[in-house]
Amino acid sequence: MLGLMMNEPLRIAGLLEHAAKWHSDTEIVSRLPEGGLHRYTYAAAHQRSRQLANALTALGVSTGDRVGTLAWNTHRHFELYYGISGLGAVCHTINPRLFFEQLVYIINHAQDRLLFFDLTFLPLVEKLAPQCPTVESWVLMTGRAHLPEASPLPNLRCYEELLAAQPADYEWPVFDENTASSLCYTSGTTDQPKGVLYSHRSTLLHSYAASLPDCFNCSARDVVLPVVPMFHVNAWGIPYMAPLNGCKLVLPGPGLDAASLYELYEQEGVTFTAGVPTIWFGLLTFMREKNRQFSTLRQMIVGGASCPPALLKAFHDELGVVIRHAWGMSETSPLGTVCTLKSQQLSLSPDEQFVIQTKQGRSIFGIDMKIVDDAGNALPHDGVAFGDLLVRGPFVVREYFGADQPGGLTSSGWFRTGDVATIDPAGFMQITDRSKDVIKSGGEWISSIELENLAIGHPAIAEAAVIGVPHPKWSERPLLVVVRKPNATISKEELLAYYDGKVARWWVPEAVEFVDQLPHTATGKLLKTKLRQDFAEYTW
Ligand code: ADP
Repeated sequence: MLGLMMNEPLRIAGLLEHAAKWHSDTEIVSRLPEGGLHRYTYAAAHQRSRQLANALTALGVSTGDRVGTLAWNTHRHFELYYGISGLGAVCHTINPRLFFEQLVYIINHAQDRLLFFDLTFLPLVEKLAPQCPTVESWVLMTGRAHLPEASPLPNLRCYEELLAAQPADYEWPVFDENTASSLCYTSGTTDQPKGVLYSHRSTLLHSYAASLPDCFNCSARDVVLPVVPMFHVNAWGIPYMAPLNGCKLVLPGPGLDAASLYELYEQEGVTFTAGVPTIWFGLLTFMREKNRQFSTLRQMIVGGASCPPALLKAFHDELGVVIRHAWGMSETSPLGTVCTLKSQQLSLSPDEQFVIQTKQGRSIFGIDMKIVDDAGNALPHDGVAFGDLLVRGPFVVREYFGADQPGGLTSSGWFRTGDVATIDPAGFMQITDRSKDVIKSGGEWISSIELENLAIGHPAIAEAAVIGVPHPKWSERPLLVVVRKPNATISKEELLAYYDGKVARWWVPEAVEFVDQLPHTATGKLLKTKLRQDFAEYTW
């Protein structure tokens, strides 16, 4: 027997329609790549998104077509999120930090028909165009005044002119909620990038999940500033979560330096923000040097890469912000776990609570997870056993877009994350490594992340990486590679002695190397494949 409730498909356009109707005068503020701040309301954003949908239709875009974006977090990018997906086409956000060859690969693989880009990326786009034959038009996201006089780009169009030529009387079409809505390629540190194709249904369910009290916990009284880019994993779903809850949205554009962010936090009364550890380290340094405090910021999320406990502690203790650690990936839309305490843990000492808060957190509703050994057997949730982390749920990838050999990715019913983790009896997951980074010493696993976090906790160390290097007796031993802070002095022996009593004796790195900088991926994560190549000839 089927239920007797209305069968209204979940659609992304519905989020903006809701905000325009019930939060019509709530603001969206953006810093523009052309300079200056732009300010309007959800009602105006809805109107312009419908003009955009008309413009896209006039350019021949229809259901299933891929439309690319190379853009910062701005109101125009927000309109593209809704205009493209709303008409049933696929909003393909492209990460401009990827290497040139990866960008060419991604645009061709997705077969983007149009490509919208910010002024900042004009030189890049002019180089890309000759290698991207599927792109029929390139649309510069600005007004006529900023359009170049001459450009080699075929069919260069002006965003504001496209919109101005269209009425706002567009009815969002109704279609199956499983229709594809947006596309994001993973950074591809070892392989070619892989496309994750989200649906309207997965996006809406993820938006509800992101809104929960133990997740982002944002309401119509919040002012939300995503530092996480809209060009990678939909800025962790914030451009959808904000209209769902009627939050004021502040979009920082290209201004991701600490001073620009701080100015927006204070000026716009921001209460919630989200970003990766690197950005928060920059902000922390700025706050300390300038001796500043936040007047409205109450909560921040840190995730996307391993977060040193020292960072969590500093924001909490020195700046009075509730900082929540979160884990996820493109393939999980991206939220998987968020770390908030349960009531049973409130009676623990502050130090015991802090140990829990450094973990990646508990699974949110919509993500089931387990850890398994090499043979695929489930491992206990004792906080000690670590194994491959597997996830499943309605906003987890089933298949990559245009996969060469479809069918194998989730044949077991689970998606293999490539992360190695522990889960404790209370359900808190902790990432110990990427599976390809794990160090096997004498048949036992050593967590490179834990060793890195400890090194970064030392006042003389700016950045640290630990890799496994072949060893005649133990098969592999950990090598610590660090960047010292400017003017800091510390010897190798002092640094190794710092591990005493903090980890098991056999976990202590075998040796230390000082370097000027560490290699990073396009998204700012440590590029350990490169580091392993650099130290391939290393002898103990
Ligand atoms: P890619 O860089 O491949 O595009 P994502 O941006 O989706 O991938 O990043 C996903 C990966 O980032 C995760 O699988 C995990 O290894 C790492 N990651 C994300 N959040 C955290 C976290 N809080 N702690 C440790 N690692 C994290």
